[in-house]
Amino acid sequence: MTVTSRNTTQTCSHCGHILTGKNKLTLADCKWTCPSCGIFHMRDHNVAQNILAKGLATL
Ligand SMILES: [Zn+2]
Repeated sequence: MTVTSRNTTQTCSHCGHILTGKNKLTLADCKWTCPSCGIFHMRDHNVAQNILAKGLATL
């Protein structure tokens, strides 16, 4: 199993919603609100949460 970082930036760590199209984050977006569950994210923290979750899933 390989831990992939694919989509970790665009995925809500709370509900799993993936941002697409015009909702996608750019490097300028360091804070965002999930359009699905409404939770507020700090981008880097959300990425860390997603990578951690993927890592744990491979154990
Ligand atoms: Zn969400």
